[in-house]
Amino acid sequence: MTGKGIIKGMAVTAKNFVQSYYKRDRLTTIQYPEEKQAPEENYRNFPFLVFDGQNDEEGLRCTACKICEKECPPQCIYIVMQRDENGKATKHPKVFDIDISVCMSCQICVEVCPFESIKMDKVYELSARERFDQLLLRKDDLAKSNEYFHEIRPSEAAVVDAALAEQAEAAAKKKAAAEARKAAKAAEAVARKEAAAEEDQSDGKAAE
Ligand code: SF4
Ligand code: SF4
Repeated sequence: MTGKGIIKGMAVTAKNFVQSYYKRDRLTTIQYPEEKQAPEENYRNFPFLVFDGQNDEEGLRCTACKICEKECPPQCIYIVMQRDENGKATKHPKVFDIDISVCMSCQICVEVCPFESIKMDKVYELSARERFDQLLLRKDDLAKSNEYFHEIRPSEAAVVDAALAEQAEAAAKKKAAAEARKAAKAAEAVARKEAAAEEDQSDGKAAE
């Protein structure tokens, strides 16, 4: 029948229209900004840097390896490694900036980071008049705690914590094994030295 599709479509529209007055899941309009809808867990906006513990400077997981800086498609990350008084790299960022006026929320920085240091935030009310001041986020603006990460992305944060705990355990085992090997080698060297000394002693007695 001609127009059957149109009638069907109109019926769906009418059903949705009527239900939008009494069904909660059909009430898609909210009075923003007075009312705010909590974003879904997978919603992402701009990146932030995760820190562990209470100190947002010392606790930063970032090692300033610059992989994210190299991989960021619009090149909106700028990192400078911190160096000690002898010029040796401390594996800590001195500068970490993200220009969010350029960032396209692609999450590539998160995917390439080997240290689980950078994650996507959900903050969305970030419009500003001044592009160069307010949309250029510095290290202090970007640093947010692991507790915050758990708050906004509980499933992802739990997986990350488990992976980090596993890595820490493997590193501790490797270190313990290396120390045991070193101790065994040292004991072997001492035993060899003692055996050589004893041999020298018995040679000396035989010569007398
Ligand atoms: S989300 Fe994409 S564009 Fe934004 S900083 Fe990360 S890599 Fe760059
Ligand atoms: S956020 Fe990750 S990838 Fe980027 S510099 Fe820090 S440790 Fe390296």
